[in-house]
Amino acid sequence: METFDYVIVGAGSAGCVLTNRLSEDAGTRVCVLEAGPRDWHPYIHLPAGFIKTFHMRGINWAYQQEPGPWTGGRSIYAPRGKTLGGSSSINGHIYNRGQRQDFNTWAQLGNRGWGYEDVLPYFKRLERRVGEGEDAFRGRDGNLTVTTMDWRDPLCEAFMAGAISLGIPRNPDYNGAIQEGVSYAQRTIQNGLRVSAATAFLHPAMKRPNVHVHTHAHATEIVFEGKRAVGVRYTKGGKGGTPVEVRASKEVILSGGTYNSPQLLQLSGVGSPDLLKSLGIEVRHALPGVGEGLQDHYAPRSVARVKNIKTINERRRGVSLVGEAIKWATTRRGLLSLSPTMVYCFWHSGETTESSDLQLTFTPASYKEGVQGQLEDQPGMTVASWQQRPESRGYVRARSADPFEPPIIQTNYLVEELDRRTVVAGMKLARRLLASAPLAPYYAYEDFPGPNVQTDDEFLAAATQRGTTTFHPGCTCRMGPADAKWAVVDDQLRVHGLQGLRVIDASIMPRMISANLNASTMMIADKASDLIRGKSMS
Ligand SMILES: Cc1cc2nc3c(=O)[nH]c(=O)nc-3n(C[C@H](O)[C@H](O)[C@H](O)COP(=O)(O)OP(=O)(O)OC[C@H]3O[C@@H](n4cnc5c(N)ncnc54)[C@H](O)[C@@H]3O)c2cc1C
Repeated sequence: METFDYVIVGAGSAGCVLTNRLSEDAGTRVCVLEAGPRDWHPYIHLPAGFIKTFHMRGINWAYQQEPGPWTGGRSIYAPRGKTLGGSSSINGHIYNRGQRQDFNTWAQLGNRGWGYEDVLPYFKRLERRVGEGEDAFRGRDGNLTVTTMDWRDPLCEAFMAGAISLGIPRNPDYNGAIQEGVSYAQRTIQNGLRVSAATAFLHPAMKRPNVHVHTHAHATEIVFEGKRAVGVRYTKGGKGGTPVEVRASKEVILSGGTYNSPQLLQLSGVGSPDLLKSLGIEVRHALPGVGEGLQDHYAPRSVARVKNIKTINERRRGVSLVGEAIKWATTRRGLLSLSPTMVYCFWHSGETTESSDLQLTFTPASYKEGVQGQLEDQPGMTVASWQQRPESRGYVRARSADPFEPPIIQTNYLVEELDRRTVVAGMKLARRLLASAPLAPYYAYEDFPGPNVQTDDEFLAAATQRGTTTFHPGCTCRMGPADAKWAVVDDQLRVHGLQGLRVIDASIMPRMISANLNASTMMIADKASDLIRGKSMS
């Protein structure tokens, strides 16, 4: 049986950063277990490949959520990356850190060292910002290249002019001093190629002899000696494959993501005793917070039909697509080099709201049923709008003791009244933005939610019928003090009551942040690498 210093489960956003940092010391042996294959598929690296990888089962867990009380009986699709880079290999490339108050709130919940001033140096250390931004906030020497959308389209320009006409200012850097305002999206794309956590952090680390990455290695159980985690069992080749065990002389680190890390803890006997007993799993360590507290952003996508100009819908078909393919192959530019979202807008739902609680995105394209994955045939433009800091919470629970069975995912979107109110406010703002004067030359009519929707109740009904995930699940292994019954890890990300075991990924967020989660998940991993090694940036 092989023994390493650290065994990391999951080569996703967090796992890639951790592997890179922990292996800087040539004497430290790091083993990474990744359930998926290597990140060889070309659609991973082509930015527009997003629309293909969205459903590609070989590199995507392709989960389905349970219908919730406010999703109109629908089971919402939940893609998750299953390859080197994890979800950063299939995500929408947006780089967005969140607001100062997000991290200060984490600290106020009892987590020392996680306030904004503490985490900012890690955001900076990770990043190689190309473009606007003050050095006080932005990094220039890290592995992760962050660029600003460089494609110019009259519809995007008109959308931004429309936002300004409604009093929303242009913000040159939403990852700088303040988030509020409208601007082109910042993306993890360089020279027309995706910058995933794997390309930025794991592949360089894999050149080191002390890094051992096992793909097609599905972790099925944490191995314990008493209360100490000493290794991981995995199945080589997935279901029906060969069982293998690896040992960790220092620590086992779970970086399987918000859905899989709590599931693996539960399968290993760590979680709510009632749940474990109902599944026939022996209770090794009672920790009721495991899997509880799931949060996500819920977005209805408002669509208007477009006239007098071509949208991406028509430009990604037939002869136009061939032209775009040639352009990308020869210049690495054009439509195939773009992320699915072009413009970002952060604004508040009411005059008394202190910081922006709404995130809106604009794309000169539209999707069938409003779900990203299949472009519509007729010209369209979309404004997705969502509440930045929802209060609703759900859960992730193992469905059975079988590690190959997908977990139960219940996000409970919109169960809190504030969330319903804010989502309705977001849809109303989306309508005003699409109908603004600068967009008038191109605006044909509103397709969704449509002119018949006028009252708050009608907006809410539309939101429940067509809202979807924005793919930002977090908070299922929350960081908090030992006396908080919801907490799973402490502020060093060690699992409460156990030794040799940490969780380091998006699941440890105690509260949803005002952002897409990739940047902050990598920040969490970078900071955790210092916590593990007893280093600090201050
Ligand atoms: C379609 C989509 C679009 C998104 N768009 C954006 C965006 O534009 N910007 C943004 O900031 N965020 C975006 N996100 C979210 C962001 O990418 C994730 O929040 C982030 O990558 C999560 O990182 P993680 O390390 O927690 O988990 P992941 O990156 O999901 O990594 C978990 C890894 O663990 C592996 N794993 C899981 N279980 C096991 C097991 N039992 N054994 C072995 N390996 C296992 C998985 O295969 C995976 O590789 C998007 C996500 C998706 C899915």
